Formats: sequence, C-alpha cells, structure tokens
Amino acid sequence: MNIFSYLKSQLSIQDVVSEYTTLHKAGAYLKSRCPFHHEKTASFTISPDKDIFYCFGCHTGGDVISFIAKVENCSPLEAAQFLAERHSIQLPEDINFSEQTQSQEEKKQHYDVCRTFAQWCHQQLQKHPSVLQHLHDRGIDQNQIDQFTIGFFPGGLASIKQCIHAVKKERFLVDDLMQAHILMQGKSILYSPFEDRIIFPIKDHLGRFCAFGGRVFKPHDTRPKYYNSKESEFFTKGSIVFGLDTAKKSIQERKTVFLVEGYTDCIAMVQHGYPNTVATLGTACTEQHLKLLSRYADYLCILYDSDAAGEQAILRLTKLCWHVNMELRVVHLPTGQDPASFLAAGNCLKSRIEQAQDIFNFFINSLSKDFAIKPLHEKVRKIRSIVETIQSIEDPLKQDILLQNAARTFDVPVESLRRELNQKGPRRPQPNVPSPADTEGQGSESSISNLEKRIFCAIINNMDLLKSQHESYVIEYISSPLKEILQTLQTKKLDGSSFEFANFFDTISEQEKQFVSQLLLEHDESGDSASYGYLVQQLQKKHWKRIVRDITTKLGQAQQKGDLDMVQRILDNFHALKEKIIPRYR
Ligand SMILES: [Zn+2]
Repeated sequence: MNIFSYLKSQLSIQDVVSEYTTLHKAGAYLKSRCPFHHEKTASFTISPDKDIFYCFGCHTGGDVISFIAKVENCSPLEAAQFLAERHSIQLPEDINFSEQTQSQEEKKQHYDVCRTFAQWCHQQLQKHPSVLQHLHDRGIDQNQIDQFTIGFFPGGLASIKQCIHAVKKERFLVDDLMQAHILMQGKSILYSPFEDRIIFPIKDHLGRFCAFGGRVFKPHDTRPKYYNSKESEFFTKGSIVFGLDTAKKSIQERKTVFLVEGYTDCIAMVQHGYPNTVATLGTACTEQHLKLLSRYADYLCILYDSDAAGEQAILRLTKLCWHVNMELRVVHLPTGQDPASFLAAGNCLKSRIEQAQDIFNFFINSLSKDFAIKPLHEKVRKIRSIVETIQSIEDPLKQDILLQNAARTFDVPVESLRRELNQKGPRRPQPNVPSPADTEGQGSESSISNLEKRIFCAIINNMDLLKSQHESYVIEYISSPLKEILQTLQTKKLDGSSFEFANFFDTISEQEKQFVSQLLLEHDESGDSASYGYLVQQLQKKHWKRIVRDITTKLGQAQQKGDLDMVQRILDNFHALKEKIIPRYR
C-alpha cells in the first residue's frame, strides 16, 4: 500500500470536500457548486460510493488527492502531506514520503531552513527587551508575536555567526541560508539584508515558511523601511497571501475575508478580533490572489490605506473582481489612516464595516468626483472607462443595474450608456474553463462510442466481469484509452492483487483518473452480468457489421480486377473470422 491509498482508506471524499463547499444529496450522489469554476447551478458531483468527483462544467475529476492538489494548488505528494497533517493521520512506519523527487526534496529543504531561521529570530526577539518593547508600543501584543512567529535579527558579525551555529544544529549549512537569500556573500564577509530588522516570517497557504519581511525600527535607520525576500520558485509575491494559513478556518466559517495592504495591518486586525484577515505583500492584489481567496470566502472586504495609491489599487480590483465568484466591498477609512493606526487609536471598525460599499459603487463614486466641472474629453474618458468595466460582467441583470447606477451618478441617459456598451460588442472575458476537446488525454473521447463507455463502466463497477469469457475480446476491440486502462486492470488481476476499486484507481494516471471519474458519473451502469452480456453482444454485432461491410468492399474490388486468388483469400479470411466471432453471440 502506498501513501495515497493509505490516506484514502482513512478519509472520505465528502468530509474533505465539505471543508471547501456545501454538498447536497442528489440520489446516490452529492452535488455542489464547483470550487474550481464560477457557476450558478451545481455541476460538481461526488460519488461517495467510489470516493471520486467530477465537474460537468469544467471537466475536472479524480479522487481526494486530485481534489486537494487542485484546490490547494500543489503536487499530489504535497496534497497527501497536507491531508495527513490536517486530519492528524498517523502514517504506519512502512509508509513514508520516500517517493519524493529531487525538486520536492529541495522545496522541503527550503521550507525547513526558513522555519529554523524564523524560530531563531523569534528567540532573539525575546532576548532583546528594547525591540520587544518597540513592538508592544506599536500595539502588537505577545499573543500575536507568538502566533505570527515575529522575530528580530540582531546586526553584526557575531549575530551572523550565532545564526549559522543555530541552523547547523538542525543539520543545515551556510549554503542553505544563502540559497534561501537569508545570508549573502559580501567582499570578505557574510552579511544579511535582514540584519537589525524586525522579522515577519511569510508562510504559504499550507503554513510552510517560505520568505521573510524585515522592517527597520531604529529612528535613525536610513535604509528602506521594508525589505522582502527575493522572489524565487518557492516565493512569488503575486501568488502568496500573508496570514492565509491561520486565517483560512475563520474565513470559511464567516464566509468573509478582510484584505489589507501589509503584515502590520493584518496583525493588528487579527489582534482586534478579526482573525479572518489576510494581506498582500507590498504588491497589488492579483487575479491569482483573488482566486485563492475565493476558494474560502464569498465576500471580500477591502481595507486599504485611505490615500491616492490605495484608491488606485481598489480601482484596479474592480476590473478583476468579475473573474471570481466573490462579492467585493470597500471599507472606507478616514484620510491618511490605515487599519493598524485606526484600531490603535481606539476607533470602532465595526460600524465602518457595516457601511462598506459595494466595489462597483465605490468605483462609480470615485470616478464621479468633480465630474461636473471636468472638461468634455475627461468626461467621455471616464464614462467609457465605466462602460468598459460593466462590459466585463457576465450577468446581464447585474450589467443593467450598474448601468442605471452609473447613469444616475453621472446624470446621463441610460440609453446612451447602453448604446456605448452595445457598440463595444459583447467582448466578455470567458471563464477560464478548458473545453473537453482540449483536455489532453481525452482527444479520442469523441471516437469512443456510448456502448464502449457503458461496457467500461460496467467492468469498473463490477471488476469480476473482467474474468468472464468476454475478457480478451473486449480488451482487444475497445477503443483507446479505455483499452489501456483495462489492460492495467488485467495486469493487476494477473498479479493476484486485490480487485478493489480504490487500489485500481491508484494505479492510473491523473488524466486517466479524470476521464474515468467522468465516465462513472455519467453512466450509471449496474455491472450485473446479464446486462453486461447484452452490452458485449451489441458491441460484437456492431463490430461484425463493420467486418462484413469491409469484406464486401474488398471482394467487389478483387472481382472487378478479375483477381481470383485474391477473391479466394478474402473468402477464406472471412470464414475464419466468422468462426472466431459469431459463436460468441449465438
Ligand atoms: Zn467545475
């Protein structure tokens, strides 16, 4: 048994999936709105019986490992690791993660070095009361310092040496620290850009330490206020959301996520009773960030700095928000304030949240500022910008409501706006859903007949059917890729391995899993031997008709040429085939 089949024997797919979406019973299946694509009706289907899923909208399918790999955006092995940790599954000693590839080993090494460094800095902070006091003065209490593993990297060579010594105790080398961009080689000595900075470790959504943010705190320090780890294959700012690993659970419970601009705002929010808060890292919120958050939340509340840059960032979000299944609202803070300063001053955030504005109304209001006194070309530009944004919305009703809002605010007839919208044509961005035809491995799907699919499903639903008299015939004549999948199954049978569905499912590729999930959820084939016999007979009849048609054509051609030898050979061949195939369905 490998790690995947062991985990699957311990977990049910509906328990795992229900942490991401609400499932409803539908006959023998469970259904919900798909967590992978935007939809109004439920096409995401689970077979609790087989522990597999398939979405009829975006054609994603597989088992619980495929689900986590897709939803958490990680490799199957990382998905297994994640499931084992999340559900506290103790792995038996003979099962381990030994199948790790070189790059997975490297990744793990990077996360481990970063974790060790974060913990060392956290210890250093406790040894430097003045730095600790600085954090307390800024309103960050010990709970948050511990929860976010906030630390301090003292300056100077002695401290670099201590840091190296600490990681060496955990079997890491100076090289590992350099590869993680924590230490750098100067002309003659090693140094770190994080020296003399308060350290905010950055974890990915799976809780793995992957990078750091360092903030200066001494009054006369003239270096840039923040220094973030260099981007690498383990850390890209555009895809990492700070605080998500710990906020995830409360975001799911409350269906709402608060988005702030930096880690100090995020920490302040958590401390003041908003544990469902995350931050982007000194960068604009990207579509990738939004997609990641929409897996957990239905509502996103934006609390950006109340300045021109913050407003610009929100306007950019207006154009992105239609690509995700999430409602965006903007919480307005007094000019010049950010969430941390607002909360530290003892202000009430709750009432501001209650008054949060729909992002589109915020967008219209921002553009309508001083609209009346703008020159004509400015007015036209602003209105076009609004129409363009409305155009990116899929829902026609929403489009209409927003057009009317805009018409009211700008005091222009709604017909003019509608005309502008229609002139631009329906260039709505399509949701990023692959069509079944361009999904690799399914290219030949269309050439597979319904009959073949039903025969295949009957066998998968009752694997004993493969032992029946039709075995070699079916495998010989069924189309690819069903043929190859059944061959895998046949080999397993020869091995004497167990004939359980779960074991079989583990031996096929990710693409085959997706395809098999689709077939099984599309065709409710019972797998009883009588109906299976009937299906095989139909296949043979179709097959025989094709043979007869081919032979008749060839015979006609040979007779036309007057090639009597050829005619005889074709007839002999035909009788041999007849002997071989006809008895099967008599
Ligand atoms: Zn889907």
